[in-house]
This record gives sequence, C-alpha cells and structure tokens, in this order.
Amino acid sequence: MTQQLPQQETTLPTYQNFSELYKHSIDDRAGFWGGQARRIYWHKQPDKILDDSNLPFAKWFVGGETNLCYNCVDRHLPDRAEQDALIWVSSEINQELLSNHPDVADAFKRLGNSVEFYTDYAKRRLTYNDLYKEVNYFADVLQRYGVGKGDRVVIYMPMILEAAYAMLACARIGAIHSVVFGGFAAHNLAVRMDDAQAKMVITVDAGLRGGKVINYKNLVNQAVEQANVKPEHVLVVDRGVMPYKPNAIDIDYAEQRKISHENKARVEPVWLESNEPSYLLYTSGTTGKPKGVQRDTGGHAVALATSIDYVYNGKAGETFWAISDIGWAVGHSYTIYAPLLAGMTSIMYEGLPHRPNPGIWWRIVEANKVNILFTAPTGVRMLKKQDEMWMTRYDVSSVKAFFLAGEPLDEPTAEWLSGHLGVPILDHYWQTETGWPILSHVAKFDHKPHKQGSPGYPMYGYDAKVINEETGEACQAGEKGMLAITAPLPPGCLSTVWRNDERFINAYFGLFDGTRYSTSDYAQVDADGYYHILGRTDDVINVAGHRLGTQEIEEAISGHDEVAECAVVGIHDELKGELPVAFCVLKDHSLVETTESRFRVEQQVIGEVVKSLGAIARPAAVYFPKAVPKTRSGKILRRAIRALAEGKETGDMSTLDDPTAIEAVKLAIKNY
Ligand code: AMP
Repeated sequence: MTQQLPQQETTLPTYQNFSELYKHSIDDRAGFWGGQARRIYWHKQPDKILDDSNLPFAKWFVGGETNLCYNCVDRHLPDRAEQDALIWVSSEINQELLSNHPDVADAFKRLGNSVEFYTDYAKRRLTYNDLYKEVNYFADVLQRYGVGKGDRVVIYMPMILEAAYAMLACARIGAIHSVVFGGFAAHNLAVRMDDAQAKMVITVDAGLRGGKVINYKNLVNQAVEQANVKPEHVLVVDRGVMPYKPNAIDIDYAEQRKISHENKARVEPVWLESNEPSYLLYTSGTTGKPKGVQRDTGGHAVALATSIDYVYNGKAGETFWAISDIGWAVGHSYTIYAPLLAGMTSIMYEGLPHRPNPGIWWRIVEANKVNILFTAPTGVRMLKKQDEMWMTRYDVSSVKAFFLAGEPLDEPTAEWLSGHLGVPILDHYWQTETGWPILSHVAKFDHKPHKQGSPGYPMYGYDAKVINEETGEACQAGEKGMLAITAPLPPGCLSTVWRNDERFINAYFGLFDGTRYSTSDYAQVDADGYYHILGRTDDVINVAGHRLGTQEIEEAISGHDEVAECAVVGIHDELKGELPVAFCVLKDHSLVETTESRFRVEQQVIGEVVKSLGAIARPAAVYFPKAVPKTRSGKILRRAIRALAEGKETGDMSTLDDPTAIEAVKLAIKNY
C-alpha cells in the first residue's frame, strides 16, 4: 500500500570539498542550514532559518512545521515500502529461553510480531510498510489513553521493536518521549518521571540480559510508588517472560493493539513548529540531579539527515548498525532516527557482544550485509580479548566503515579492528547534549586522511576551538585547553535543559560569559589540525601542581601488549596533592598470579607511563583486578574505583553494570 505524498525539494547544495562546506557553515549559518533543510519534508516551510537574537538560546527553522515520524516513515512509502526499515535481532531469545518461558512465542503472536526463531537467536524484519502500520497502531493506543501534543511519556524498555514504535508514535502525535535506560534502578526512574512530569510510562513485563530475567514491571511499580507526580497510565508490552499482576493504572498493549489493528487505525501526524521539543534525555551533570537534555524537532531532523550523508556517507537502502541501547543518545540518533530519516535499514540488537559467542556481531553483519557500524570502544575491547577465530570466520566485506565514540579509542584497539576489517576505523566525538558528532572525520569527502588516535576535526556547524580556560583565548597547536563551541550551537543540539533555562546557561555557557558552550573536555590540536581529547575537565588529577588527564596515562598504559583495559584515578597524597594509581585488566590474568610476576608486570606498566609522559605521571601503584566497574553504557566508573582505592564507600552505584567488578577491584587492592 502506498499513499499519495506531497513532493519534497530534493536539490541539495553541492560543495567541492569539505573546507568549502565547513567555511560556508560558519560564515553563513542560515545559508548553509537553509540548504540542508531540503533533506526533510516540511509541512510548512520555515519563515526564518536562524533566530540568534537571544543567545545562547538558538532557534532553528523558525515557523517551519514538520513531523519526525512522518519523515522517518511515511515519506519513504512511495519508494521503499517493501524495503526493511528495522531488523531486530535478539540473542537473548534462544531455544533455552523459549523452553523455560513457554509463553514467549505466544506473546510475539499476540503482539502481531512474526518472529523467526533460530537455535540461539530470534529475528524479525520489518519493512517500512510494516513499520508504518505498527507506528500507527501504537499512536492510536496512545491517543486512546489521552496522550497528546506536549505530554511527556517515559519509555523504560529493553531493545525490542515496540520501543522503537513507542518513540516514533510519540513523535507522530507530538508527545515528548523520555527514554530511561533500562539499567537504571527504580529511584533513578522516579527522579526522571518527576522531573518530566510524565503522563504515561511505557514498559515491559521483563527484560533479558545475558540470560538473566530483569523485572522491569516491578521496578516501574516501585518507581510509581516513589514518584511525586504519578503517571495516569502504565502501558505494558507483555513479552510473556515474567507473569505480573496488573495494577489499576496498567494497560496491556497487545489487547489495545488488537483493537487498533482491527480498525486499521491511521493517525494523522501532528505538525510541530520546528522548535517544539521532540524528546528529553536525561544525562548526569556535576550535581546529583540529572539534566533533561531537550531536543527540538526540525533542527534535530535536519542535523541527523545531514550527518548520515556527510559524516557517515550512508545511502538510502544501505544498512546501518549503531550497537547501542535506545537509552543513550547514540541509540536515539543512530539506531532510530537518523537511519530512518535517510531511508536506510537499521539493526536493533538485544543482547551482549559475546553471547552466545564472541562471533555474534560479525554473524549479524554477515547475515544482514551491514554497511556502516558504530559502537563504543569498550565492546570492541571485550571482543579483542577473545580468540581471533570469532572475528575471522564471518564474511564482513559489506562493511564500509566502523565509527567509534563515547570514550577514547586507544590505538591498539583501533589497529586490531582495522587489521581484521580492512576498512577505516573512525573515532569521532560527541555528547548527549549535541546528539550528533562535534569532531569527526568526514567519510563522504576525501578531506584529510584519518589519523589514528584522533577523533578528527570540527564538523560543519560547530565553531569548535580549544580555549584557555583562564584567558578565554584560543590555544596554540599542542597547547592543552577546554574544547568550547561558539554560540549558536548548530541545529540538533540541546535547545535547553527541560524546565530549567538557568541551568542550561550556567552548566554550559557559564564559563565563557554566555558566548561559548563548554564541553568540559580537555583537548589539544596537533600541528596537522587534528583534535585530541584529553579527558574530562572534571576527572583531572593534580600532581604537585601539574594537571594530568587520567586518560593520557591510560593511553600510555594501553601501549603495554598484555593490558586489555585500564583505569587511572587520582588518590589523595599528603605531599603531592594527588597521585595516579592504575587498575589494569590483563588479557591473561595468570600473568600476575605470583608476587614476583605481578611486580614484574607492574614495573613494565610504570615503564610505559614514564616512557610516554615522564616521571611526573608515574603511577604510585598498579593493581590488577579481573575487571573494572563500568556503567551499562561501558563508561568506567572512575569515581567508584577512586573511592575504593582510598578505602571509602563507593556512593551511588545505580549505573553499575556488573557488581562483581567492585569485588574484583577490592580483591586486587587487598592482594597488592
Ligand atoms: P555522553 O554524553 O555520555 O555520550 O558522554 C560524552 C563524553 O564522552 C564527552 O564529553 C567525552 O568526555 C566522552 N567522549 C565521547 N566521545 C569521545 C571520543 N571519541 N574520545 C574521547 N572521549 C569521548
């Protein structure tokens, strides 16, 4: 089925090279983005491309009306109705799970999901036409329960297709979704529900992680109890994994979908003014209270569509796999919105990188001919520790490029990956706040060869410079400073902190008198114009008056062949203020089983640091835990490690992925 759709303008500006493009984006912001705006469908064309009269608040495409869901789904129906829009793969749904949870297969049927089951994974392909229908049913259900434009909907779900439908359905009807990462505990969920004043929460009976059942519904019940602002309804997608007793406010999604399906429900997209919010995504700040990053609608769509072309060199019809959770910015931007805006096929994966075996990523790549990959380095480092044959037994020749972001990409990991894939391994740098890359190598233009160890150079639209924090002056090549972006931020970046304009100004624009956005990352530019991220300004160590980034030391340590990963923290020292100590996870832990061998490897590690950074950075101790604590998104919990190293309590551990890592660190300290 196709429907008659309004024509959209498709002529895009052309640029000879990236320098010309970048210059245009900074010298004539309105001209540049006015051209890029043609990438999406506007129900009403903008009256003004940029309103920068009230900086640091920037308004993009003022007066323009559009709809994200329409652009992601409906717009592709004439040309790609039968092309896959989403391919969902779950290595959590395997034969073992199906035999222990007999209701799971039926639940898929109740939800209208025709899933293919294999021995150790399940899969569903969903065409643009299928997606169109499912999103309409979901939107119809939301409307039936009174959710409308501007209402906040908290989505607390694992990586299942209904989570994507829920996000797109909210966008369709102008409701503001706020996805809360499934790994967060009830308290964190309640805090976010309260701040967003959520009208509805969408969840599941249970999630699955490494074969373990996670009781989402129970966590939501607790959060509802704790929240000051109670949602009117909890919409439950029952996967048949864990029986639950419905509460008065609960709604069963499968039952409601059935009604919408029987009615062949179609919901008209609600056209939003470009600056109206599309979603909120909470991220931690320096205070305990998370910040609700508020994303606009039109700017977000234009920025993502542009990035798929220029940054990722993705094409309609190709397959993009951002291996992330929808609870994070990468999942929002590059698992859901951007690939669909561009008419690509996106992979949604529920599962771990090494289960059922460490070949699962490459097997998915082979089976689905993935063209562009994107993940955080941690996942790759995990695979690097495994037998090489898991990497070499699959045909990964469809891959054009592999992008990494979220944390520093160490050179050994990049080299390992590049050795196996034989394609560019492109580190790039961005933040939840920006929603798309600030620094990158452009895959589309033959601009500068990519340089390992650098996430690239500023992307179009970002007037990003390394600035001396004290003087506010731009740093020279090789000089360390704070990476800052001159206002206005380009389209797609946060428009404010939800219901807290003051916090937006203070947290991000306070340092440079409202004129520049502070990334809170140290950086430097090398003589060839490549940027290097040197760590968070808030994770700095001060050793005898010298400031050292923990990441710089970690990079030096990763030069040691046997180190799989490491975390450096500063611990209090009476004489020097702080001293760095290192926690190294080895590829083969048996190397440090005796005191002598441990001492030997410790000296080698210290030697690497002294070799690259000098004696000032010499770690006072090197511990060898079997694992280091991380968040579910793979960020090392340095604060927790530091607390343990100083014999203190770890504090808030709600984002902790694997609790045994804490014990591993304690044991390493004890055995030292
Ligand atoms: P988040 O908003 O949680 O994605 O975290 C953003 C932060 O992650 C940045 O401020 C950096 O500290 C770090 N980060 C992101 N990408 C990179 C990268 N390519 N290299 C180094 N650090 C990165």
